[in-house]
Amino acid sequence: MDFTSDNAAGAAPEILEALARANGGTATSYGADEVTTRLQKRLSDVFEREIEVFPVVTGTAANALSLAALTPAHGGIVCHELAHVHLDECGAPEMFSGGAKLLTAGGAGAKVDPATFAAILDAYPAGVVHHVQPAALTLTQSTELGTVYSQAEIGALVEIARGRALHVHMDGARFANALVRLGCTPAEATWKAGIDIMSFGATKNGALAAEAVVVFNSDLAKDLAFRRKRAGHLLSKMRFLSAQLEAYLADDLWLRLARHANEMTDRLASGLREVAGTSLQTSPEANEIFVRLPSAAIRRLKEAGARFHPWPMPGDGAEGRTLRLVTSFQTAPEDVDRFLGILKS
Ligand SMILES: *Cc1c(COP(=O)(O)O)cnc(C)c1O
Repeated sequence: MDFTSDNAAGAAPEILEALARANGGTATSYGADEVTTRLQKRLSDVFEREIEVFPVVTGTAANALSLAALTPAHGGIVCHELAHVHLDECGAPEMFSGGAKLLTAGGAGAKVDPATFAAILDAYPAGVVHHVQPAALTLTQSTELGTVYSQAEIGALVEIARGRALHVHMDGARFANALVRLGCTPAEATWKAGIDIMSFGATKNGALAAEAVVVFNSDLAKDLAFRRKRAGHLLSKMRFLSAQLEAYLADDLWLRLARHANEMTDRLASGLREVAGTSLQTSPEANEIFVRLPSAAIRRLKEAGARFHPWPMPGDGAEGRTLRLVTSFQTAPEDVDRFLGILKS
C-alpha cells in the first residue's frame, strides 16, 4: 500500500526489455544512433506533425531547458504558485535561463487563473526597462494537485499569452494521465491548443529514467542541442534513453499504463467518498488524490503499513489532516481495497 508517489514504482517490464534489446552490438554515440532516429519519427507520428525531440534524464532538466529556450535572461515566466518549476526545482529554470524571473499566479486546483495571469502581464508592461519582460507561460498537465486543464481552459490562457507574444510551455511530467482523461489526441492536447514546447514525462509512468523536451515550434529548437550538452544531459549512450521512450510509445504502452493509474485513483476516490469523516480536497482527475482524514484513521493506516505523504492544506487541524495519495501503473487493486477496508473498519 505505497501511495507516496508514482516514482516509488519501478519500471515497466516492456521498457526494461527494450533496454536489453538496445544493449546488443554497438551504436553511434551522442544521439546519432538508430533508436534515437526512430524515436524522432515515432513522436512525429504520435503528435501528427514534425517535432524535434531532446531526451534528458530528469523532468527538472526538461523544464529548465524548455523554459530557457523561451526566455531571455531579463524575461519573466508565468507559472502557478504551486508549480513544480517554482517549488521543486531548486532554481533550475532561473539558472538555465541565466536569471529569468518566475512570476507566480494563483488559481483553484493548481490551474493558472486567467484573470490573474492577465493582471501579471499588466503589472509587467512591455518595453519598460525596470521590469522583467514576460516571455513564457508554463502550465502543468496534469497539475500538481491532480487536476486536468480542459481544452477550453488552455485555450483561454493561450489567447492571453498570444496577446503579449508569450510562448507557452507544458510541464507534462504526468501528460499521459491527463491525456487519457481528456480523451483527445496528443496533437489536440498540445500544439493544436497552442503549446509551443513541452516536457514529455515518462519516468513517473513506467520508464526507468527518461523524459524529453518535445519542440512543436521549430524556431525554438535551434539552441537546444547546445543547451542540453551544457547542462550535462547529452548522453554519450543516448540509445538507452531513446529506447525507453520508444518502448513507452510502442503499442500505446504509455496510454495503457496511465489508464491503469487513473483507474486506481478512481477506485480509491470512490471508496473514500463512502467513508465518513473524509473529505477530498481537490477533484481527482488524473492519478493523485488529496484527502483529509481523521487523525485516528491516519494512525490506523500507518500501523497497517500504508505509505503516503502528509500534505498540509488550509483547514487541517484537530479534525484531521490532508494526505496526498498517488497511484501508478503498478498499483494493485487489492492494495487499494485493503487501504479502503482499513478506513471502513
Ligand atoms: C516529478 C515532476 C517533475 C520532474 O521531476 P524530476 O524529479 O526532476 O524528474 C516535473 N514536474 C512535475 C509536475 C512533477 O511532478
